[in-house]
Amino acid sequence: MDCLFCKIVAGDIPCTKVYEDDMVLAFKDIDPKAPFHILIIPKNHIKSAAEINGENSEVVAHIFEIAAKIAKDENLEKGFRLVTNCGEDGGQTVSHLHFHMLAGRSLAWPPG
Ligand code: AMP
Ligand code: ZN
Repeated sequence: MDCLFCKIVAGDIPCTKVYEDDMVLAFKDIDPKAPFHILIIPKNHIKSAAEINGENSEVVAHIFEIAAKIAKDENLEKGFRLVTNCGEDGGQTVSHLHFHMLAGRSLAWPPG
């Protein structure tokens, strides 16, 4: 499959790894929008948040658990944002489910 994030999971495209286990991979975003900006992705290909169902939702809970662990490990005590862009209007550019974890500055709300 021609999927950028599947290639990163396979090790065919390099990344700066922050966390990995058998279900998920977390790595630094190549174009950071905040002082701390990583992507947390399931290793299995899921297109977007719109494809989450009873069969594959376990990994989403795991991603939130790992985000909380990373926040502790990286001393993000001032907070962070965990967000997934879905589809065209959501601003999704890579069609493999990913959660942006942003921190290190005050983040605007609502987003543009
Ligand atoms: P989205 O626009 O929400 O689909 O997010 C895709 C994210 O992937 C963007 O923030 C990009 O900067 C990031 N990105 C694209 N290619 C790479 C790469 N090779 N390594 C790390 N992050 C990437
Ligand atoms: Zn993929």
